[in-house]
Amino acid sequence: MDSSLTQIRALIRAVADFPKAGVVFRDITPLLADAGGFARCVDALAEPWQGSGVQAVCGIESRGFIFGAALAQKLHAGFVPLRKPNKLPPPVVAVDYALEYGVDRLEARNDALRVGERALIVDDVLATGGTVAAARALVEKLGAQLVGASVVIELAALQGRARWQDDAPLHALLRY
Ligand code: AMP
Repeated sequence: MDSSLTQIRALIRAVADFPKAGVVFRDITPLLADAGGFARCVDALAEPWQGSGVQAVCGIESRGFIFGAALAQKLHAGFVPLRKPNKLPPPVVAVDYALEYGVDRLEARNDALRVGERALIVDDVLATGGTVAAARALVEKLGAQLVGASVVIELAALQGRARWQDDAPLHALLRY
C-alpha cells in the first residue's frame, strides 16, 4: 500500500464496543490532530476528483463536514452541509434512512444545490451504506448532478457498497 495511506491508517484508532456492544468504532480524531496526516488525507481524497469539475462538496454531519470542507477548498468547490434533523431553518428537503446503530434523517436547505450542479458526497465512514445512499437521494432530490462519493474508511464486511448504484464512483481511502 502507498506509504501515505499507511500513515493515515496508523492515525485511526479502533475503539471496541462503542457506541454499543459489538461495534468497532473508527475514531478519526487522532488523524485530524496530526497536521501532516490530515493534509495527506485531504490530498488523497481530492486526487480522484481533480479535473472532474466538482462544483459542490456535500459533507454529511458531522465528521463529513470536517473532511468535506477541507476537500471543497482543495477542489475549489463550494461546501454544502447535509444535516441531521431540526438543525436547519425551513424550508428543507429531507430523506429518512436506517443506520448501523439507529434510525436517522438527512436534511438540506431546499435551494442548497442548483439544478445540474456537479455534486460530490463526502463522509468519514461507509458502514451499512444507508447514510451515503440517503445523501445521494437528497442530492438527486435537489436536482443536482451526482459526480460520486468519497469516504475515508470503508467497513467492507458490512457491504455498504452493495447499496451504492455504481453509475457514479464511490472511492474509499482505506478498507477494514
Ligand atoms: P452507515 O449508514 O451504516 O453506512 O453508517 C455510516 C455513518 O455512521 C457515518 O456517518 C459514520 O460516521 C457512522 N459510523 C457507522 N459505523 C461507524 C463505525 N464503526 N465507526 C465510526 N463511525 C461509524
